[in-house]
Amino acid sequence: MNTAYALVPSPSHVYPDHPEHPSRFDLLTTRLDSFGAQKLDAKPARRDEVARVHHPDLITALEKACKQGPVLIDYAPTFVTQSSFEDALLACGGTLSCTRAVLSGSVRNAFALVRPPGHHAEPNRSMGFCIFNNIAVAAREALANGIQRVAILDYDAHHGNGTQAAFMEDEQAAYLSTHQWGIYPGTGWYEEAPHAKQRIVNVPLPAGSGDKTYERIANEIFVPFIQAFKPELILVSAGFDAHWNDPITTLGLSSAGFYMLSKKLVDLAEEHCRGKIVFVLEGGYNPTHLANGAAAVFAALTDKPFIDPGDASPRKETDASEMIEKVCEWNGF
Ligand SMILES: [Zn+2]
Repeated sequence: MNTAYALVPSPSHVYPDHPEHPSRFDLLTTRLDSFGAQKLDAKPARRDEVARVHHPDLITALEKACKQGPVLIDYAPTFVTQSSFEDALLACGGTLSCTRAVLSGSVRNAFALVRPPGHHAEPNRSMGFCIFNNIAVAAREALANGIQRVAILDYDAHHGNGTQAAFMEDEQAAYLSTHQWGIYPGTGWYEEAPHAKQRIVNVPLPAGSGDKTYERIANEIFVPFIQAFKPELILVSAGFDAHWNDPITTLGLSSAGFYMLSKKLVDLAEEHCRGKIVFVLEGGYNPTHLANGAAAVFAALTDKPFIDPGDASPRKETDASEMIEKVCEWNGF
């Protein structure tokens, strides 16, 4: 069965000198061809679908703000243009197309390559370059259509505060985030959800954490998290800004590290969820590393060989063992 993808590049959602720029996708499409994945149509999400996560007042306020665009709506800075409302609905819609195709069994797995990204957008607030929370809307779609438990894993360099906020009290969803500690948005400490140990799992990492650290996290945290929650569907917030050479963060992953993480998640989905997994693009601000990272995900999804571009970090990796042990102890993993 096929791997599918949706592509929503939103060329008019653009702001001068902003890192979340359409050129992020410049090298993406040529890299996709070799995987033979099936392209799905994306149509805009409906308001009631978005409203499963976001307050109707936020949706209305955003529509109004976009009409006045281009304008900044928060300090990150997050921008909107006159096309951004439609672009954000389409990014949600592309994520929904991938999720529905995987749930119906018409494709094996999928990757939503969409922008604007989503994981910082909270139920009542758009922020952090994100308008609507694409992956949260997709999780709610799955839960509204017979799925009992959805796990979201987020390896973007930043904490997905919006996704965490959406599911903080929802026992049908679990959220695990690895992120650099001390950068935007400032949330995601490991003791942040004492009422939801094992279900809301944060792994805040020191700058310079790289491939070895993430391999340990995949084995010692991802595995028991999935075993404990027993999801029927896995969604992944795939951000490639955890690459060591990303312009806005200082983690230490390479493209081989992204492949290792993605393969682990695909294998976990095969073992626990009949292969049902959807990756959703979040950040990643260097077009080369974004394209290499996406290729690593497609290699994992399609079970084709990963061609390593040989971009290991030149810096010495920070030892994050102490934090990994604290997270395991806190959660009882
Ligand atoms: Zn990010």
